[in-house]
Amino acid sequence: MVDAVVVGSGPNGLAAAVALAREGHSVTVLEAAPTIGGGTRTEELTVPGVLHDVCSAVHPFGLASPFFASLPLEEHGLTWCHPEVDLAHPLDDGSAGVMLQDIDATAAGLGDDGAMWKRTFGRLASGFDEIGEDLLRPILHVPKHPLRLVGFGLNALQPATVLAQRWKTDQARALFAGVAAHVIHPLAKPVTASVGLMLIASGHHVGWPVAQGGSRSITDALARLLRELGGTIETGTRVDRLADLPDHRVALFDTSPRSLAAIAGDALPPRTAKAYARFRYGPGSFKVDLAIEGPVPWTNEAARRSGTVHLGGTIEEVAAAEKAVALGHMPERPFVLVAQQHLADPSRSNGNVHPLWAYCHVPKGYTGDATEAILRQMERFAPGVRDQVVGMHVAGPVEVERVNANYVGGDIAAGANTALQVVFRPRVALDPYATGIPGTFLCSASTPPGGGVHGMCGAGAAASALRYLRR
Ligand SMILES: Cc1cc2nc3c(=O)[nH]c(=O)nc-3n(C[C@H](O)[C@H](O)[C@H](O)COP(=O)(O)OP(=O)(O)OC[C@H]3O[C@@H](n4cnc5c(N)ncnc54)[C@H](O)[C@@H]3O)c2cc1C
Repeated sequence: MVDAVVVGSGPNGLAAAVALAREGHSVTVLEAAPTIGGGTRTEELTVPGVLHDVCSAVHPFGLASPFFASLPLEEHGLTWCHPEVDLAHPLDDGSAGVMLQDIDATAAGLGDDGAMWKRTFGRLASGFDEIGEDLLRPILHVPKHPLRLVGFGLNALQPATVLAQRWKTDQARALFAGVAAHVIHPLAKPVTASVGLMLIASGHHVGWPVAQGGSRSITDALARLLRELGGTIETGTRVDRLADLPDHRVALFDTSPRSLAAIAGDALPPRTAKAYARFRYGPGSFKVDLAIEGPVPWTNEAARRSGTVHLGGTIEEVAAAEKAVALGHMPERPFVLVAQQHLADPSRSNGNVHPLWAYCHVPKGYTGDATEAILRQMERFAPGVRDQVVGMHVAGPVEVERVNANYVGGDIAAGANTALQVVFRPRVALDPYATGIPGTFLCSASTPPGGGVHGMCGAGAAASALRYLRR
């Protein structure tokens, strides 16, 4: 009998496993795929020696994560690498909104909007560790820093398009809109400012780094630490029923609520089953990984040095594209997220051939091919880039879900970021990780605080499991 079995070896599954193992519990992780890592896998998808991040690429939340910070991950092989420029959002006139870790330098680049940029993000960034303690956990708790939380909440509850009205220049407005669009929800809806505020504040706090050697280094480091603590990991082991689990005292599922409902069947109390059935998934994603010969010829100079580049034009254009996606229409000019990890971490490249990571949001159930739309957006801001493509790997929403069952319909956020689900996920409950089956918990990104590679969902679920084990 093991104390804990964890189903799934994504960053949250491994975070939960480490949190339990460091308290002296025996832990086994069961992973369906042949390799560990879930949304942090890195593979040679195109050209030998060129390392592509299959899912996640850029990790402000990873570096800012209070749980990861409590672990000796650097001693276990994790090195964060910072690009010279964190984020560029180019516009058609060749200018760009540019974010650097240094908020003063960012403000200086935003001209008339610089002072308001600092007023919006300065205190949030400098107090990120405190606000993070309250925000990167379930909402129903006594806040440690209530005043900071109220200050954040007043802005975060707004639609991103409303918050953006405080800036006057196209550059600042587009810069914010592109980051806010990580919420994968129409930007005119309430609470959509929240993700943009958190991501930009974490950017000014720790930067937008990548992991040396690929995102897989994050979960490789967690796995090394887990093994050192006595834990074991079995890959190629899919769990389809509760009866597949070895004898255990607690079980934690790094899966979608939908998968857990199918696995648990009648063992799930009807109230939880109903809540999991009602849990909403968001739009899909369409991913294009390119191998590029030579540097990308971005028209904007800062984009040539930037780890992340957002392609979508003005705030109006970005908002319209995201609205269309939510309404079920594929926009002609989608909002495209691009990462150039090799600028910070040259080990990703093979000589002069570099990986270029890109994806856009697509409507739920999309079965078309968005490759051309993505390439057109790249060509718009980097004319000639097509001629440099020497390898390509494409994954639509169906493929994204096939590789990882957690991304239902290609929803990489593991659940729609509706106002309700940003605050309460996967259901309204005092302990959102509890399933109602004694000793069984959900620990994936479908639980608080939601998507991203930070391990905080796993750490939160492990805290619930530890309370159960201490009873
Ligand atoms: C294209 C894309 C881009 C992204 N970009 C970023 C980014 O730049 N930065 C960022 O922070 N985040 C990003 N994300 C999101 C991030 O990857 C996820 O939020 C994160 O990986 C969630 O971690 P998790 O542990 O909850 O689940 P996952 O990482 O999805 O891992 C779940 C694991 O459980 C396994 N599993 C599922 N069901 C079973 C079962 N029945 N039996 C056994 N094993 C099972 C899966 O195979 C998988 O390995 C991106 C995601 C995608 C897809």
